[in-house]
Amino acid sequence: MRYQSTRGDAPTLGFDDVLLTGLAPDGGLYLPDHWPQLDRDRLLGFAGRPYAEVAAEVMRPFMAGSAAVEAIDRLCREAYGRFARTGTCPLTQIDEGTWLLELFHGPTLAFKDVAMQLLGDLFDHVLAARGERITIVGATSGDTGSAAIEACRDRDNVDIVILHPKGRTSEVQRRQMTTVDAANVHNVAVEGTFDDCQALVKAMFADEDFRRDVGLAAVNSINFARILAQTVYYVTSAVALGAPDRPVSFAVPTGNFGNVFAGHAARKMGVPIEMLTVASNANDILTRFFETGRMETQGVVATHSPSMDIQVSSNFERLLYELMDGDGHAVAREMQQFKQTGAFALSQGQLGRARAGFDGFRLNDPGTLEEVARQYANTGLLIDPHSAIGLAAARARRPDPHVPTVALATAHPAKFPDAVAQATGQRPSLPDRLADLYDRPEHYTTLPNELARVETHVRAVSRRAGGDTAASRVGC
Ligand SMILES: *Cc1c(COP(=O)(O)O)cnc(C)c1O
Repeated sequence: MRYQSTRGDAPTLGFDDVLLTGLAPDGGLYLPDHWPQLDRDRLLGFAGRPYAEVAAEVMRPFMAGSAAVEAIDRLCREAYGRFARTGTCPLTQIDEGTWLLELFHGPTLAFKDVAMQLLGDLFDHVLAARGERITIVGATSGDTGSAAIEACRDRDNVDIVILHPKGRTSEVQRRQMTTVDAANVHNVAVEGTFDDCQALVKAMFADEDFRRDVGLAAVNSINFARILAQTVYYVTSAVALGAPDRPVSFAVPTGNFGNVFAGHAARKMGVPIEMLTVASNANDILTRFFETGRMETQGVVATHSPSMDIQVSSNFERLLYELMDGDGHAVAREMQQFKQTGAFALSQGQLGRARAGFDGFRLNDPGTLEEVARQYANTGLLIDPHSAIGLAAARARRPDPHVPTVALATAHPAKFPDAVAQATGQRPSLPDRLADLYDRPEHYTTLPNELARVETHVRAVSRRAGGDTAASRVGC
């Protein structure tokens, strides 16, 4: 299996290089050169099987040639064994035609764990086979940082440094990162904003010597291995609701288009998925695109569903590549124009093809709280604001009463307790294993917003660069 860049100007790579590289050198995103098919018998055979077994079978053909392919059964068992629920991603019925797919039973209570937990295992395995070490550096305003930390903690070949803006994340979010007690996890509170943190990370990636010395790496949402791991719950939930003999539709709370693209990938592998509804909050660039064919950035506004507060959906480029019939240079031209002018437009023919499989939906903050309240009143379930947008989309856009719709629940309600309490009067409690989060000691280092100081710190903790991990941890 080889992977090619969406911009057509990078060498093809195998799975392990795609895993470790992330972004292609021409600025594009990697896609497999063909989609292995799950035929009727394979799909029927998945019914009732443990999630980890289905995951390994779905992923194996994409990993042909990988140093981890022989170990994939065990890696999936370990990764999904860290989820709090049997079934890993269970379905809950909401009404006659709607199911909620609970993707939030991982260590940080959000769907990113489903891919990130496995990615941590894959990274460590591939690096060990190569005799290499890396240092992952990232910036977070909240959620992705904790998912990355939980995925990389206690790994032999990975050190992770996550920058967060001091005093500007919620207490739950900060504590989910800073209470992790692992020698290879390093939290830095930067005296600055989230944008300052991102600028520091960007500057570190631009510093060639530093990059080489520490083996700098990222775990961002454009990594194809993350998309691949996310295809699995589309497969398991479709099979549970009648695939391959009955089509299923999905409503997906969307930010970077990673999760919903994974649904599209499952469809390309042969899962009968009728419609994928792209559900946005007030930051509705994708919804506007599916209405008009024009992708145009506007400013970001803060909402009750912050993980969907995006200006640009980076993974959309993968669908664009398909709509451009695999012409990487045409994709590169559109992306260049988008970068320069903040907009590009597709032809009516291309838009028509996109709309055959995708649908747009948007919900503002008052509508989101209403949906949280409605679900509590109707079902007794507390749902988080992101999941509420998916459920509202499922109700609004169910295209065919004979096609079941699955709304993806991307976060546990206790991750967004204020919005849930405002909507329902009920304050969701943290699951047992996180119940003492507010009592656990925090570990982080405070640094000024200065590149040299941050780089010195990263060098000091990076085992690849010869740093002494334990000595530089600071308890607070
Ligand atoms: C990241 C995230 C999303 C958006 O997912 P994308 O793959 O970026 O579209 C939605 N909900 C929650 C809770 C998230 O953490």
